[in-house]
Amino acid sequence: MKLEFDEAPLAYTSGSQTARVRTERWVRDWAYCPNCGGANIRAFPNNSPLADFYCTTCNEEYELKSQKNGFGKKVLDGAYHAKCERLAASNNPSLFLLNYDLQKLHVTNLFVVPKHFFVHEIIEERKPLAATARRAGWIGSHIRLDRIPASGKIFIIRGGAAEPKEAVLAQWQRTLFLRDQPVEARGWLVEVMKCVESIGRPDFDIADAYAFETQLAQLYPSNRNVRPKIRQQLQFLRDRGYLEFTSRGHYRLRP
Ligand SMILES: [Zn+2]
Repeated sequence: MKLEFDEAPLAYTSGSQTARVRTERWVRDWAYCPNCGGANIRAFPNNSPLADFYCTTCNEEYELKSQKNGFGKKVLDGAYHAKCERLAASNNPSLFLLNYDLQKLHVTNLFVVPKHFFVHEIIEERKPLAATARRAGWIGSHIRLDRIPASGKIFIIRGGAAEPKEAVLAQWQRTLFLRDQPVEARGWLVEVMKCVESIGRPDFDIADAYAFETQLAQLYPSNRNVRPKIRQQLQFLRDRGYLEFTSRGHYRLRP
């Protein structure tokens, strides 16, 4: 995988336009599809409302966000209600997040959030645009990257170096089981995955998981049975190979 941009001069005067054209061209020419490993990523015709690219082999769709500096806790995205409606759709796009260095003309980081990590909990509603704005009342969204577990942020390029492709494809496959779940069920699973990851070690026990009871109860105020719900998610994650039960009440995250 070549990390440099095509050096052909571009006729754009604005830096952001130049960056957009260069990064889009780079994705088309050099990125591979983390779902199937295929190299045929094509751009949708301009102005496709939600996705930018698709894989001609497996039809996975991708949206691209690129910026010079690293992404922080959240990233701006499109219309809030359209984004929420799209969550349950089978062609909701996965998200490529790309950082670049325009002086050195190359990609510094590229990670992908698989579409099955998109749940209501990570789409944040922005304030409607002011009455004086051209699109007064329009409601945009933020994607809360800080609410996505590490297993949902798969690095393809990190710090200017490509990660091994087999590792990228394996990490993608590891959580693919989430796709079979309706979006509400995925919300709980993703939250519990994030909790157990944040324990910070692969081995943990049920008390470590219950330590998140208050936090989860705040997130899901209508649920009165948080502990059984946590246990149920752990069991599901065990059945799908994401973690294993080592003995009664003891768990281990699988690599
Ligand atoms: Zn593919």
